[in-house]
Amino acid sequence: MMFTRVESTCLKESRDKRRTMDVYTKAKRSEIMARIKGSKTSPEKIVASMLRKLKLKFRSNVKSLLGQPDFVIPLYKTIIFVHGCFWHNHRNCKRSKLPTTNKAFWRRKILGNKQRDMRIARLLRKEGWHVITIWQCKLGEQRQIMARLKRAFYPRRPMK
Ligand SMILES: [Zn+2]
Repeated sequence: MMFTRVESTCLKESRDKRRTMDVYTKAKRSEIMARIKGSKTSPEKIVASMLRKLKLKFRSNVKSLLGQPDFVIPLYKTIIFVHGCFWHNHRNCKRSKLPTTNKAFWRRKILGNKQRDMRIARLLRKEGWHVITIWQCKLGEQRQIMARLKRAFYPRRPMK
């Protein structure tokens, strides 16, 4: 089908708008999907399997600790948060782009989340915890995350 220049510009614009509105639903959907137990692609499951490969004893979803960390490795006094890029506002990440509709609402909500994350990490560090954040968009690069986890844990391996 042929379009005049103006028409095709309009079409492109409405497509772009649709895509932007999808940001929220896509991010929300993937976060919800990720929380469904039994989901093979759940970010928490990916990280859990990495921790098992590293032979680290961990507890997951620890409600007794501030911020309800995704993982706690008590032996190394280390906490790992697995953060969704949208809800936790991953810096310079295309997944964290705010929707263009209801801008003020989203800005307040998402930046509020970010500030809370930062406060929680600060307080946990104050209590002597090592805090590691793993972003959901990085889970595709498992080798890099493994390397990072190894660096974080092996140098501090207790003497036997
Ligand atoms: Zn990201």
